[in-house]
Amino acid sequence: MDAYSLYFDGACEPKNPGGIGTWGFVLLRGKEVIAQEYGNIGEGEGVTNNVAEYNAMLMGLQLARDTLKSGDKLVVYGDSQLAIKQMNGRYNVNSDRIRHFYKLATSMAKVVKQNGVSVSFEWIPREQNEKADELSHTAFVEYCAAHGRDYHPCTCGGTLVKRTNRKTGGSFYGCSRYPKCKKTKEVEVACPSSE
Ligand SMILES: [Zn+2]
Repeated sequence: MDAYSLYFDGACEPKNPGGIGTWGFVLLRGKEVIAQEYGNIGEGEGVTNNVAEYNAMLMGLQLARDTLKSGDKLVVYGDSQLAIKQMNGRYNVNSDRIRHFYKLATSMAKVVKQNGVSVSFEWIPREQNEKADELSHTAFVEYCAAHGRDYHPCTCGGTLVKRTNRKTGGSFYGCSRYPKCKKTKEVEVACPSSE
């Protein structure tokens, strides 16, 4: 009879839709972290923030299905209004793409419930979902490193993407969350070769 909390987060960076989709989740028994996982769902067409969020929830629910026992209690926390409200039946599922993931998530949740676990879904603000957000971001950084992408994490959780200044023609890194985040970083200029 244990109380479990599942925190999940998904992201689509540096652009949504069509960016790199990543996910992360943390599963706790009481206050003890018993699992934290992350990964990516690839990039390009069909990848959106909502798809990434649903994937994060699904991966977490899958582990919950295999871990929790009859009599346990699970609260699933996410900062995606859409995913949480849809799971609670408060939002309609209007997109076919999302319906696919919604069906997977509801049937996964159903299996967990059939195992005798009580399951509920709660929305939390982003600031309370830091660990899952961090894991999803780690997945992004690793994906970029593995695929040789010139992206850098921004302190806001966004991504610094190489951009061109239209006036000067010079390059700089700007946050993918502009104008919400206005952070920039200068591009290191290679030393001119000695004569
Ligand atoms: Zn930023």
